[in-house]
Amino acid sequence: IERTFSIVKPDAVKRNLIGAIYNRIEKAGLRVVAAKMIRMDADKAKGFYAEHEGKPFFDDLVAFMTSGPVMVQVLEGDNAVVRYRELMGKTNPEEAACGTLRADYALSLRHNSVHGADSPESAAREIAYFFADDEMC
Ligand code: ATP
Ligand code: MG
Repeated sequence: IERTFSIVKPDAVKRNLIGAIYNRIEKAGLRVVAAKMIRMDADKAKGFYAEHEGKPFFDDLVAFMTSGPVMVQVLEGDNAVVRYRELMGKTNPEEAACGTLRADYALSLRHNSVHGADSPESAAREIAYFFADDEMC
């Protein structure tokens, strides 16, 4: 059993897609074991995306992720990291496979509705970045 970290991004929260995305997560056999709605400030978003600092899309990415509330959640299941990445589909919705979250819900490469940790190590770091021990089931 493994845990991963997920965000429902501002574009999806604004379009009333929290429930639809949670439904797909649960149907895929992943369990929500911690969740909350937050609004990130610029420092929080910059820290989260530190690996992308200096890239041409970084400032717009931070502006987007702070543009409205997001849902952050911890998902649990066998091979949760890889299975949730598969459920999301490729970063660019035009390249995402049919039936994936990004193919069905994303608006563009930037407004791509969901985030998922890309490795178990990233998942552990990202979970600790958003959740205190006493917020985890
Ligand atoms: P995420 O980290 O959000 O799960 P990812 O791992 O598929 O997505 P990354 O390469 O980590 O993609 O990029 C992080 C986010 O930055 C992407 O989800 C997307 O919103 C944005 N992004 C990435 N590349 C670009 C780009 N070339 N132009 C605009 N935005 C981009
Ligand atoms: Mg990433």
